[in-house]
Amino acid sequence: MMRNEYSILPFTFKRLPHRKMLMVNQSGEFIFVSSNDFNDLLNNDLSAGSPTYFELKGKHFLADTDLDIAQEMVATQLRSRKSFLRHFSSLHMIVVTARCNFICDYCHASSAALEQQRVDMNWKVAKKTVDLIFSSPSPVLKIEFQGGEPLLNWPIIKEIFHYGTFLNRFAKRQLEFVICTNLTLLTEEMIDFIKEHKIAISTSLDGPKLIQDLHRKTREGYSGYDVFHSNLQRLRERIGHDGASALLTITKTNLSKLQEVIDHYVELGFDGVFLRALNPYGFARQNMEQLGYSVEAFVSEYKNILQYLIELNLQGIPFAEYYTTLLLQRIFTPFSTGFVDLQSPSGAAISGVIYDYNGEVYPTDEARMLARTGDKHFRMGHVLRNNYEEVFGGSLVKELVKKSCIEVLPGCASCVYQAYCGVDPIRNYVETKDIVGHRPSSDFCKKNTMILDHLFQLIDENDPDVIDVFWSWITRRPLEEIRHDKFSRNSP
Ligand code: SF4
Repeated sequence: MMRNEYSILPFTFKRLPHRKMLMVNQSGEFIFVSSNDFNDLLNNDLSAGSPTYFELKGKHFLADTDLDIAQEMVATQLRSRKSFLRHFSSLHMIVVTARCNFICDYCHASSAALEQQRVDMNWKVAKKTVDLIFSSPSPVLKIEFQGGEPLLNWPIIKEIFHYGTFLNRFAKRQLEFVICTNLTLLTEEMIDFIKEHKIAISTSLDGPKLIQDLHRKTREGYSGYDVFHSNLQRLRERIGHDGASALLTITKTNLSKLQEVIDHYVELGFDGVFLRALNPYGFARQNMEQLGYSVEAFVSEYKNILQYLIELNLQGIPFAEYYTTLLLQRIFTPFSTGFVDLQSPSGAAISGVIYDYNGEVYPTDEARMLARTGDKHFRMGHVLRNNYEEVFGGSLVKELVKKSCIEVLPGCASCVYQAYCGVDPIRNYVETKDIVGHRPSSDFCKKNTMILDHLFQLIDENDPDVIDVFWSWITRRPLEEIRHDKFSRNSP
């Protein structure tokens, strides 16, 4: 038989059960092929008329007469995937106070007591922080108020808002504000301000009252859930349902009760959840025995709950899982999904950055926590002593970028999931004292591998109901619309 003339473009692959291969190219396009076709492809024996040949060519795994065009297509898709880099330093988290009225068992921020007002950000630090933020070249600036409990330093939130808005009259960026709050200190004046200035609210919800109050404890001993619940209703009456989103922290306690947790989210009118495994930082690290679980236990529950969510959507209750949605966007579309924790190079410092109450700047909240325990390896600078170039162009940020490109990291460079995954250099450092990390012993790697294995299994099974739900999450459109579009496309 005559050998075919074609060039093979770069790709990674994984052997699946039943003599099947998953192949993924540099721009994230994927294909399932048989082992026989895979071998034929590599031996230049793949028949030019076969359906596999056309699919491989269409998805830029091989090129015959048009190598330059195929390479340019892959390069264009890759540029589009990496376009989050154009928004260099767009997310700015400001810790306006380290004080908190809660003392949660897993708190990353290891909060300070209410009377310790010396851990509040003052106006001198706040003003310099905003000046630094406006030195960023990003067309989008998102300022997120964090704590502790940020509402404990409400006056400085207002000052930062007004000063940032004033500077933006000249800078003309797309300026957004978010307050991350447990909602329990919300006053009418705050609600008025939040409504008037269209400030988004991010809150925390671990489940129904018993679950929420178990690890999210108030310093004064009252039920945080009851106040959270009534303030959420009050807030929503004024700013509408979309103005507040919630973050779920999964501990050993609610891991086996996730269905109950999801039902509660639905009952409270949320339309999605982010299933986050507990990270080994702050108090959570000390309390791992009581709070933690294995990656296998997490992924097993993740699979169950994904199935439950798919069923909910099919029953007419639209509700998304955001981590899955993010991965599906990367799998099915060429668009950029700038999620700081899952980027290459890592989003730490170049996409998001955090300013501590005292003016110290860190790439992530986890790096700030590390500093709190005495290790200031990731301190990028200080708003009162360093300018933008020194903070963002220093050797630390260069090292973070250089050593967090997934395409060249040991273990990741040949991984089939490279195009969809990301790098967490701070976590690598916490676990191995080296920001490059060690993939074979990394829980981050194990979790992403197991989740992506499961998603690709579902994609390979190609159940139309499941795929429709996935597309409704990716496009944020109602399931009926997705089905109607598909029906219209398939109609004669
Ligand atoms: S972290 Fe693990 S799953 Fe992710 S790309 Fe690297 S090797 Fe693959």
